[in-house]
Amino acid sequence: MTSHNLNIKKALNLSEYPQMRSGLILGFVLLTFIFSGCSEQSTQSDAIEQTKPVSEKTISIKTEKSVTERLQSKDFQTVYEDISIPNLKKHIQYLSSDEMAGREPASKGDRMTAEYLIEAFKKLGLKPGNGDSYLQKVELLAINSKVSQNLKIADIEFNASENYVASTRQKQPLRTLTDSELVFVGYGINAPEYGWNDYQGLDVTGKTVVILVNDPGYATGHSDLFAGNTLTYYGRWTYKYEEAARQGAKAAIIIHETAPASYGWSVIKNGWTGTQYHLPRNENSGPVVDVEMWINIEKTKELFSKAGLDFAAEKTKAQVKGFKAVKLGLTASVQVSSTFKQSGSNNIIATFPGSEAADEHIIYMAHVDHLGQDTSLEEDQIYNGAHDNASGSAGILEIARAYSHLKNRPERSITFIGAAAEEQGTLGSKYFADNPTMSLSKIVGLINMDSINIKGRKKDVSVKGFGKSELEDVLKIAAAFQNRILIPEAHPERGYYYRSDHFSLAKKGVPGLSAGGGTVPLNDIEAEIDQRIGERVAKCYHQLCDEYSEDWGWYGAKEDLQLYLATGYILATSKQWPNWYQGTEFRALRDNMMAEDLLAEPSH
Ligand SMILES: [Zn+2]
Repeated sequence: MTSHNLNIKKALNLSEYPQMRSGLILGFVLLTFIFSGCSEQSTQSDAIEQTKPVSEKTISIKTEKSVTERLQSKDFQTVYEDISIPNLKKHIQYLSSDEMAGREPASKGDRMTAEYLIEAFKKLGLKPGNGDSYLQKVELLAINSKVSQNLKIADIEFNASENYVASTRQKQPLRTLTDSELVFVGYGINAPEYGWNDYQGLDVTGKTVVILVNDPGYATGHSDLFAGNTLTYYGRWTYKYEEAARQGAKAAIIIHETAPASYGWSVIKNGWTGTQYHLPRNENSGPVVDVEMWINIEKTKELFSKAGLDFAAEKTKAQVKGFKAVKLGLTASVQVSSTFKQSGSNNIIATFPGSEAADEHIIYMAHVDHLGQDTSLEEDQIYNGAHDNASGSAGILEIARAYSHLKNRPERSITFIGAAAEEQGTLGSKYFADNPTMSLSKIVGLINMDSINIKGRKKDVSVKGFGKSELEDVLKIAAAFQNRILIPEAHPERGYYYRSDHFSLAKKGVPGLSAGGGTVPLNDIEAEIDQRIGERVAKCYHQLCDEYSEDWGWYGAKEDLQLYLATGYILATSKQWPNWYQGTEFRALRDNMMAEDLLAEPSH
């Protein structure tokens, strides 16, 4: 990732270029129309009562006239209504069957999943999305790191797993830190758009930085600092290590505190020991520090008092703009030894070339992998992952089928990506983001489906990372066609936006949507489904019981797929380039990307 720099944009006066028009410049007109034609005949043979979409409804919405006309066209409405619950069921049942053994990356089930998707894409007339192939190979590197010499800072007692963890992303059998100088860099954030740089005037080359988790907005609750209570990417632990590496640090220590991390020490302990999957590093990979560590809060307090400082007081100072990093006058030593295993999976990429601007893409993405199986278990050993994410994989197949039946192919290309190894750290989508099959500046927007809504029909649409990009303006129009409104996700402080595949592209500047489901059931019938399935979804997340069931809220799933279809269709038949909202963390990246694109193609 390059540094944020807007000079190119300024120099070019980009507002003259159509691609760079910020905002969806829509001519809003008020019009009333009949949104008619529900032809879905339920083939559900069981007695589950659900609320079918009504056959005719009158909606008056305020929207762009041409968008309305496009969505109202018989061509679009026919495929919109044709999103099929029986098809969805068939795909999910197959993909989550025991035969697939939990779709672990590089397993037989993983290959069978790819075959199934490719077969379906071919039948629907989609073209290969990676040259003449539907596959993009994703090499995976399994690293098993162990502490071979315990962390040593002054005379403090450290115990691996108990009060600190240490690992490496480097393919090196030994990584040794010897008397590396410790510097407390506060939140360890360099964010020009928030006027914040904890590394200002600081050289941490070869040193070990000590970093607070989350960001000053969350810590203070001040809405004018970062995004207030909503977690920004600067608050994620992944960012902390990345920025430390960009600054030249040799190692980084993140201070664990349960509230700002949003999880307890046990998650650190389990997550940072044992095998970790990574993409093998190459010339496209950003820098990484030699050793990544977390320490718990008790040891942190001890460390600060050894340095003659009060942790709470230093933390408060770090929450104020203009904070200056503090040399702790202590050094750290630790040694990590690692073993490696290489394997491989595939992203599946298929496309409907656009009729006019085939180089411009709308992307639908869903991860195809899940956790595999655990042969040490007595009875059920298979993590079927029916909801997570056979449902999303089935979703892209059904949306692809809808596009395949359009009489008029949209102007822009529609591209589907079945992403590999998401559960191992969104690795397939990261690989795609580093090795895209089209220029990232030609991706108009991305819609990610990681576990579609099975909790019944809703009056609203929950948006992860609400308030990030103008894609939400498009989603809002599509939602209005369903008489739904957009709402922010329930827990913005947990940073769910940064935890699935769309984020791999967002991090490069490509706007992505992760939205679906909602909080207000359509009626009493849907409320019962919400209650019953909601409990199960919460209980079965990443558990053996995430299995296919006939009693899911299928009409909610259908309605959300229709929402994604309409959102993508508006984009695919438009000339607009939705950007990140001004002041959000990925805006500068997108602006720079588009500016570089214009430098490369001045006539565009
Ligand atoms: Zn998932």
